[in-house]
Amino acid sequence: MRKIFAVICSLILAVSLVLSGCGQKGSNAAAPAGSSVNAAGIASAPAYSGKPFIAINGNKPNFTEADLTEKSFEKYSPLDSLKRCGTAFANVSKETMPKEKRGSIGQVKPSGWQTAKYDFVDGKYLYNRCHLIGYQLTAENANERNLITGTRYMNVDGMLPFENMVADYIKETGNHVLYRVTPVFNGNNLVASGVQMEAMSVEDKGAGISFNVFCYNVQPGVEINYADGKSKLAEGQQTAKTAGNKPKVCPTADDYAVQSYVLNNGSKKFHKPDCSGAEKISAKNKENFKGRRAELISKGYSPCGICKP
Ligand SMILES: [Zn+2]
Repeated sequence: MRKIFAVICSLILAVSLVLSGCGQKGSNAAAPAGSSVNAAGIASAPAYSGKPFIAINGNKPNFTEADLTEKSFEKYSPLDSLKRCGTAFANVSKETMPKEKRGSIGQVKPSGWQTAKYDFVDGKYLYNRCHLIGYQLTAENANERNLITGTRYMNVDGMLPFENMVADYIKETGNHVLYRVTPVFNGNNLVASGVQMEAMSVEDKGAGISFNVFCYNVQPGVEINYADGKSKLAEGQQTAKTAGNKPKVCPTADDYAVQSYVLNNGSKKFHKPDCSGAEKISAKNKENFKGRRAELISKGYSPCGICKP
């Protein structure tokens, strides 16, 4: 319980920081092709301001009274003529959440898909096959209507904290959450500029969950051509691992599983409990932790190279 509140509080803090800092900018460009599936969404991406996401519309989601049902559903837009995803909309509950481990999604090639590696992006790959509605919420895996070409940064720093917050809330309360994710493509671009994420808890009318944010499909240090997904090193970006980027991981089912770890608060490494490295940690730096891998990564811990937790 305490942990969930901590996550929710830090998100509220982050959203209010964004709100007080920047505000919404640059939403006056022409509506993108395929915006018909995006009736409630924004017409174009706000300008990137150095943060993984920004609150839009005062952080209020655009759901109507009629949307507030306690019946679970999932709707995925058909791909448009450029084979791009549209809005994915679900009423998420314990019913829609996965009961088995996630399978492979490597066979899906979302619009603008390119294989590109940069050694300062942990895991190396610039792009993930990024679920619009996260696997942990609706168990949709290799659904081409739910996968876009997304940067690791958007996947992990932008979208994942919101997904986790919603998943935790549902597990805690058993309530339903309206959840809508809309990729925003400028013009005929094959790679989305970002995604709009809206959510609202049903039974308590948004008291538990209520947000409307835009997550940027960017990767610090990389310049992306959104027309076709090609990319290059941004000017001034070093290729060395010393470039100062913290290791990031692509979220998988394992990242969401609650497991036991041993933390070294000196080196900021985390271990499996039976790792030889874990035994050697001094008492003052050692901490037993039960929780999600993704949470440790988001707090700046990195996995031990020996036990590879
Ligand atoms: Zn270890």
